[in-house]
Amino acid sequence: MWRDPTPPEWLALIAGLKPALRLLRDPRRARAEAAAAARRGFAVALHDLGDRTIVYVARTPAAARALHALEGQALPGPTPRDRFDPAPHRALGAALGFPPCCVDAFVARIARGADVTATGARAHEDFIAASEAAARSARLDARANVFAVDRTSGWLSHVPCAFDCAPSLAYADRVIAAVVAHDAAGAAVLRARLAAAVAIAPDGTRAAPAAAPADACVLAFGDPA
Ligand SMILES: [Zn+2]
Repeated sequence: MWRDPTPPEWLALIAGLKPALRLLRDPRRARAEAAAAARRGFAVALHDLGDRTIVYVARTPAAARALHALEGQALPGPTPRDRFDPAPHRALGAALGFPPCCVDAFVARIARGADVTATGARAHEDFIAASEAAARSARLDARANVFAVDRTSGWLSHVPCAFDCAPSLAYADRVIAAVVAHDAAGAAVLRARLAAAVAIAPDGTRAAPAAAPADACVLAFGDPA
């Protein structure tokens, strides 16, 4: 049974702001969400990873199959490849409607390993992505917060290259308008949750800054601009 309030990315898909969805879920939830997508008239493809399932939701069966095929090329196979190929990752990012600058930042991270920092140390991928995006940001805009302390879905469906990335904020504004039109009170709750400071520890644990270890990446999101 799928009882969550409609997350922003679903409303973005329905409003035509986003071409397709890629949802990583536990297998039961994946099947419930796929059934909900099919009831709404969307095409669905599933990719089982064992303990998790990826659900692709698109407007046509061909588009859903294309996403699935790209993922197959992007995922590491049973034997490590000699050379990292960014092409399927870029194509997947484009097919999901992510800004090219953010896809570039993502590809640069996974080219060295999602859990490998620029200096070769190991850390959780959220810590690395958040630290690198913060370093590129002149200001932290809560509309680009995808690291809510309670793991609530943000307005964005991708990790932004920076927390003031212009195409990400323009997209967020369109999604916010769609969510406000659907559920103004829910949108206000989400806006407030995303405007809270969060600290991400190197192991990926999220907490309020006061409760975080000294080496955590602190994202001091304030009120949205
Ligand atoms: Zn960007």
